[in-house]
Amino acid sequence: MNELISLPSAILFILSIRGLNSPRSARFGNLLGIIGMILAIAAVFVFIPFPRLPVIISAMAAGGIIGIISGQKVRMTALPQMIAAFNGLGGLAAVFLAAGETIAGGTGYFTSSIGLVIGALAFSGSMVAFAKLQGILPGRALLFPFQHVLNLLLATVVLILFAGFVFYREEWMFWYLTAASLLLGLLLVLPVGGADMPVVISVLNACSGWAAAGIGFMLGQTLLVITGAIVGAGGMILALVMTKAMNSSLWQILLGGAAKNAKSAAPGRETGNARSGSPEDAAFIMENAQSVIIVPGYGMAAARAQHALKEMSVLLRQKYRVRVRFAIHPVAGRMPGHMNVLLAEADIPYEEIFEMDEINRDFAETDVAYVIGANDITNPLAETDPSSPIYGMPVLNVSAAKTVFFVKRSLASGYSGIDNPLFYRENTVMLYGDAKEVTEAVVRELEK
Ligand code: NDP
Repeated sequence: MNELISLPSAILFILSIRGLNSPRSARFGNLLGIIGMILAIAAVFVFIPFPRLPVIISAMAAGGIIGIISGQKVRMTALPQMIAAFNGLGGLAAVFLAAGETIAGGTGYFTSSIGLVIGALAFSGSMVAFAKLQGILPGRALLFPFQHVLNLLLATVVLILFAGFVFYREEWMFWYLTAASLLLGLLLVLPVGGADMPVVISVLNACSGWAAAGIGFMLGQTLLVITGAIVGAGGMILALVMTKAMNSSLWQILLGGAAKNAKSAAPGRETGNARSGSPEDAAFIMENAQSVIIVPGYGMAAARAQHALKEMSVLLRQKYRVRVRFAIHPVAGRMPGHMNVLLAEADIPYEEIFEMDEINRDFAETDVAYVIGANDITNPLAETDPSSPIYGMPVLNVSAAKTVFFVKRSLASGYSGIDNPLFYRENTVMLYGDAKEVTEAVVRELEK
C-alpha cells in the first residue's frame, strides 16, 4: 500500500522539478510538488497508530504555521539564510530519527549512522551559515591556526566512531559520534566567507538530502530514499554549476577560506579618472535611444531597486518607444536565480528578460547599457587577465554598447575584490549613488 502511494508521489516530485525548469511552467511544477507531498503525507498517515495521531498532527501544525509565516514575512534578500535555517532542521530531523532508532534498539546501524553523521554535519554547518548571513556572526572567513589539521583529525575521529558504532553497537559511541559530527560541521563552515555561503548552503542542502536517503533505507521508506536522493543530487549539481560559473571549484571554496578571504578583503580603487554623470544625463540619453539593455547585479538586490527599474522600463517603452530588455548573468547577485526572482517580484514580463547567452551579442547594436549594482559580471579582466580571480568566467559584454551607465555608490570592487577597468573607459558614465535612489531620480526625469 505504502509503495503504491510512493510511486505516484515520486513521479510527481520529478515532474515538479521539471516544471521548475522555466518560469512559465514553474507554478504548475510547484503545484505538482504540493500534490506529491500531500500524497506522501497521506501514505504515512495510513500506518500511524491512532493514539499517536494528536502528537503528530500538533507537531505538523506548529511546523506548518512557522513555515507559512516565514514564507510570507521573509524578504527576498534574506532568502539564503532562511534556506540555510530550514535546511539545518532537515539535518536535525535525521539526527533525531537515528537517535530514536538507536534508543529503540533498531537494526539498521550502518544506514542510520550515515544519516546521523551527514544530518549532524548539515545541521551545525547550516546554523553557522545562517548566523553568518544574518549578521549574528561576522560574514568574513573565520580562520584559526591548524584549522585544516584539526578538521582532518576530527574527520578521522568521526570515521573511527562510525566504524566502532556499526561493529560494536555501543550506545555511548552513538552519542560521541553525534557530538563529533556536530563539531565537524561547525568547524567546516566557520572558515567559509559570507559570499561563498550560497555554494556551501547548496552543499549542505545536498547533505540533508543524503541524510534523509540514509534514514529512508533505515526505515524501509522508499519515498524518503527517492526524495533524499533527488535533494542530494540536485544540491550537488547546483553547487557545481555555481562554482563553475564563478570560475572557482568546490574544494577551493570548502577548503580555501583563507585565500578567498584575503582576495575579497582587498579594497577596490576608490578614486580614479572615471567620468561621472547625473540622473538627468542618463534620462536624456536613454529617452533618445532606440535600444536599452538593463544589467542588474547584487547592488540592485541590496538596494531593492527592482520596482524603480520596472517603472523606468515602462516609461522608456511607453512614453519614448525605446526597446528595453534585461540581461541576466548566471551568477549575478548572491544566489542562483537571484535577479530572476527580484525582477519577477516587480512583475517585469518574462519576454523582456534574457539570459547572458541569448543577449550578449546584442550589446554591439545597443545604444545604452544601464548596469545597476553589478560589477564582476561585466569585468573584461575575466577574459583577458589570467591572474585575475575571475579569469575564465564568461561576462556580459556591456562595453560594446554606445554608452554604459554604471549605477553604484563608488568605484569600489564587488565580490571578487578586483578593480573593473570598464569604469575608466571612454564610453562609461558613472552614476554614483544608491541603486534605488538613482533609478528613482531617473524615473522622475523621464516623467517630466
Ligand atoms: P558584485 O559583487 O561584483 O558587485 C556588486 C556591486 O554593487 C558592488 O561593486 C557595489 O559597489 C554595488 N552596490 C552594493 N550595494 C549597492 C547599492 N545599495 N546601490 C548601488 N550599488 C550597490 O556583483 P555582481 O552581481 O556583478 O556579481 C556577482 C558576484 O558574486 C560574482 O563575482 C559571483 O561569482 C559572486 N557570487 C555569485 C553567486 C550566485 O549564486 N549568484 C554566489 C556566490 C558568489 P559600490 O560599493 O560602489 O556601491
